[in-house]
Amino acid sequence: MLARQKNFLLKEIEGRVLFDEPLSRHTTLGIGGSAEVWTEPADTPSLTKLVRFSTDEKIPLFIIGRGGNLLVKDEGVKGIVIRLNSAEFTYVKKEGQSLRCGGGAELTEVLKAARDNGLSGLEFTVGIPATVGGAVKTNLSVSYPFKREIEEGLDYAKMLDLQGEERNFPHIIIEAKFNLQTADRGAIAKKMDDFIAYRQKTQELTLPSAGCIFKNPAGEKTAGWLIEQCGLKGKRAGGAEISSRHSNFIINHNQKAKAKDVLALIEIMREEVKKRYNIHLELEVEIWE
Ligand SMILES: Cc1cc2nc3c(=O)[nH]c(=O)nc-3n(C[C@H](O)[C@H](O)[C@H](O)COP(=O)(O)OP(=O)(O)OC[C@H]3O[C@@H](n4cnc5c(N)ncnc54)[C@H](O)[C@@H]3O)c2cc1C
Repeated sequence: MLARQKNFLLKEIEGRVLFDEPLSRHTTLGIGGSAEVWTEPADTPSLTKLVRFSTDEKIPLFIIGRGGNLLVKDEGVKGIVIRLNSAEFTYVKKEGQSLRCGGGAELTEVLKAARDNGLSGLEFTVGIPATVGGAVKTNLSVSYPFKREIEEGLDYAKMLDLQGEERNFPHIIIEAKFNLQTADRGAIAKKMDDFIAYRQKTQELTLPSAGCIFKNPAGEKTAGWLIEQCGLKGKRAGGAEISSRHSNFIINHNQKAKAKDVLALIEIMREEVKKRYNIHLELEVEIWE
């Protein structure tokens, strides 16, 4: 990035602006090279300025939430990474039976507000690392005890809008509203505890991961089952390991894994499942490079 461009960002953007920020600090896998620029704009005018700047200067723009669904390559990303982390983007407000939330609000905060206000409907998301924007973008879902998706309770998601300017930039979710149902606070807390207990029993939650690596293919067999049948549980490449508890999870077992280790395991999982079952596994996790 040119000195002129750096100066613009430092002078014009209210909020945090960092250069060469390791993305391993911002992904749940704890993996990833540096972002050329890391920004946490303080408000909508600064966010708008950033988008205009990146399109004028043809600099790629990335939006990150909790980094719960990302594998960032070891070379990092050339461009500007935006995290909506300031008060203007992290509020959670009760409006009748709904919660109106900033796009950068963490789901843990949303769930706390829901429980404290006796509002039910989002309990199934408990324990999943996500921001509101990331959860809506990925349509966060669970399949137990039956399929639930975050979209079900979503009233609307509001995108950043450049007041009529036609520019090509990624959709940035700055707000979302969830319609919920009133319920007893104790019952909500109990539901959350049950979901957490289920997760602890079935998933590896103590070591860094990005949740499921692959989507479940069409049909009855889950990606995890297919990988397990190929005898890959516990297989390692460098610091990465196919979880022994959930074969569709790759964990950073020594906290020193590289993206290349994870990619090597992804390759093996895909090849083995293809060879044995003639099924192509599609990535759930998003790769940034
Ligand atoms: C232990 C563990 C368990 C998990 N379990 C589940 C599970 O049960 N179900 C499930 O669905 N997922 C699960 N995940 C994956 C992950 O937590 C979810 O996909 C989550 O929704 C990602 O949200 P995020 O804020 O971390 O988004 P990120 O991973 O940071 O980003 C994901 C995508 O959303 C985009 N994005 C982020 N914020 C915004 C925004 N404000 N506006 C527009 N785009 C945005 C990013 O650009 C990217 O494309 C799990 C992950 C872990 C580590």
